[in-house]
Amino acid sequence: MVDKISAVKGMNDVLPPQSADWEWLEGVVRDLMRRHAYQNLRTPIVEPTGLFVRGLGEVTDIVEKEMYSFTDRLNGEELTLRPENTAGVVRASIEHSMLYEGGKRLYYMGPMFRHERPQRGRYRQFHQIGAEALGFAGPEVDAEIILLAHHLWQALGLVDVRLEINSLGQLPERQAHRSALIAYLEQHESQLDADAKRRLHTNPLRILDTKNPDLQTLVNAAPKLMDFLGEESLAHFNRLRQMLDASQVAYRINPRLVRGMDYYNLTVFEFITDSLGSQGTICGGGRYDTLIEQLGGKPAPAIGWAMGVERVIELLREQGLLPSTPKPDVYAIIGDATDLPQVLVHLQTLRRAGLSVQMHASPRLEWSGMKAQFKKADASGATYALIFGPQELAQGMVGRKSLRDASAEQDTLALSALASWASDLQSRVL
Ligand code: ATP
Ligand code: MG
Repeated sequence: MVDKISAVKGMNDVLPPQSADWEWLEGVVRDLMRRHAYQNLRTPIVEPTGLFVRGLGEVTDIVEKEMYSFTDRLNGEELTLRPENTAGVVRASIEHSMLYEGGKRLYYMGPMFRHERPQRGRYRQFHQIGAEALGFAGPEVDAEIILLAHHLWQALGLVDVRLEINSLGQLPERQAHRSALIAYLEQHESQLDADAKRRLHTNPLRILDTKNPDLQTLVNAAPKLMDFLGEESLAHFNRLRQMLDASQVAYRINPRLVRGMDYYNLTVFEFITDSLGSQGTICGGGRYDTLIEQLGGKPAPAIGWAMGVERVIELLREQGLLPSTPKPDVYAIIGDATDLPQVLVHLQTLRRAGLSVQMHASPRLEWSGMKAQFKKADASGATYALIFGPQELAQGMVGRKSLRDASAEQDTLALSALASWASDLQSRVL
C-alpha cells in the first residue's frame, strides 16, 4: 500500500452535499450584488509579497506572522498567497486604470490564506466574499455598502447579527490621539501584558483591541479617538448615522473598534454574532481613502468589507436556514443496455427543459438488473423514476412512477410528450 496524502492542516475540502450550501449562498450573493449594481472582479490568488507589505502595513498581525510567502524557484520572485483581497482589488484597479471614468463598485468571492492556529471558525485556507466601492468619498457610499451587507443577512434570513461602527478620523487626528494614548499607557506600563508592551510604540491603537480581560479596565479609561475628531470627520460620521437610522438599521458605536489593517480611516464597522463562540465577527470593513495612492495609483477614496464564508455558513446551519439538499427530478431506469444511445437523447430533452436527471450507470461492465436500478432510484431521492424498458421503447413509450407518493401507480407516457411533461414539471417546481 502506498501512503495516503492528506490535505494541509487548516485547509478543508468542501464535499457534497455541503458544497450545495456554498453554491446556494454564492447564488444569493450574486443576485444581491446585481440588485446593488456591484460587478464581479477576479484577481489572482498569488500576488507579489510587496503588495501586502505595502498595503497592509508591516506591523499588522497578517504581515508579521500569518502570510504564506515564498520565493518562486524559477525566477526568484517574492510571492504570497493572498491573505485578503482588498490590496489585490486596488492593484488591479490601478493596473487597468479602472477609475479613469469614475468610481467602481466591485465584489469578489474566493479563498484566502493565513497561517493561524486552526480552530472553529479559523482556518488556514478560508473563503471571503468582499465588496469594494472605489472612487467615492461621501458617507452615502459608506451607508450603501453597510446596507449591502445588512440586506445580505436579511436575504439569508439570519438573525442575531449586530452592527458595530466607529470612526478612525483622519491621520492628523489619529496622530494627536496616538500621542495622548501612548502617554496614558506609559503611565500604566507596569500593568501591560507582553503583547501590549511590544505594541506600545509600534501600534498602540491595537492595544485597545486586546482580548486580555485583565486589561479591560485600563483600555476602557484610555483616551478615545472620537474625542480627537475634527468637524469634518464628525460630520461624515453623523451623516452616515442619519442614513443608517433612516433605513432602520440598528447599530452600536464601539469607540474601541479599530480593525486589523493599517489602511483604514473614517468609517470602520463589523457585523458580529454571539452564536459562534469567540470567532463571532462574520464581516468587517471600512474606508481606506489613502490605500490607492499608497499602492501607486492616482489618489482616490474607497471603502469595502469582507465576510468569512465558513463563519456565515456555520451561522446559517445553527439557525436552521440552509436549504435542503437538492435531489434529482428524474432517475432514469434503463432496461436494456442496447437502448442506451436513444435513451441518452431523451434524457437531454428533459435536461434542456430544466429538469435534474440522474441516469442509471452500471458499477460493473455487465448492465444492472431492474431490481438494482429501482433500489438506486429510491436511494437517489428523485421525484420520478422513468423506466425506459425495451417493450415501451418499441412502442414509442416510457414508464413513469412517482417515487414520493407510494400509492401512485406506474403509468406510461409517449416519448413525444416528454418535452411538454418536463416543462410542466419544471414550472411546478419553480
Ligand atoms: P479575526 O479578528 O477573527 O481574526 P480579522 O480581523 O483578522 O478577523 P478580516 O481580515 O477583517 O478578519 O477578514 C474579514 C472576515 O474574514 C472576518 O470577519 C472573518 O469572518 C473572516 N476570517 C478572517 N480570518 C479568518 C480565518 N483564518 N478563518 C476563517 N475566517 C476568517
Ligand atoms: Mg485575524
